Amino acid sequence: MDALKEKIHAVGRVLSEDVLKVDSFLNHQIDPLLMKQVGEEFANRFSDEVITKVLTIESSGIAPSTFLGLTIGAPVVFARKKKSLTLTNNTYTSQVYSFTKQETNDISVSRDFLSADDNVIIIDDFLANGEAVKGLVDIVNQSGAHLVGVGIVIEKGFQQGGKILREQGLRIESLARIKSLKDGKVEFFEEGEF
Ligand code: 5GP
Repeated sequence: MDALKEKIHAVGRVLSEDVLKVDSFLNHQIDPLLMKQVGEEFANRFSDEVITKVLTIESSGIAPSTFLGLTIGAPVVFARKKKSLTLTNNTYTSQVYSFTKQETNDISVSRDFLSADDNVIIIDDFLANGEAVKGLVDIVNQSGAHLVGVGIVIEKGFQQGGKILREQGLRIESLARIKSLKDGKVEFFEEGEF
């Protein structure tokens, strides 16, 4: 997705050979116009599927997911990382090791919002080692829902998550695939290049 790649080139900051900071439009401040385009692009790519629910993880998956939900008319559910007092034991729960925070979190989704009748798409901001997506897939499996596929805003293709999940047969659509963050520069894969 060209607008996304241009934005990353313009304002993304390479923090190290494996971390990209995009908090000016995705992870802290949000660019609603770009997120609207991101939501529409996901809708386009999965237009062959009937989706009843968009599933993501708080907090940075919520913006792109909401614009996808708005475009296709489906509700958005975000997995919570901290047990809230209002989230009772009526939950699906999984564990996710966080690449950026280097800690393991329980993630939970209320059983009220995901069931075996749902056709679910998983959305997240980044794909690195695939831990967040694996946790969300686990939750979808616990619910008995059908998983349509996974939409990722930025995939770091030099890390293993995408490869592992695709080998498991998951359909993964990434809007920007990064080949390298070496020498402080962002290099993208071309469309179709692996
Ligand atoms: P994974 O679970 O695939 O290893 O990592 C994905 C999660 O870690 C995403 O939900 C995202 O929040 C965070 N993450 C991974 N790599 C980066 C990165 O380079 N930059 C930012 N901002 N977040 C990242």
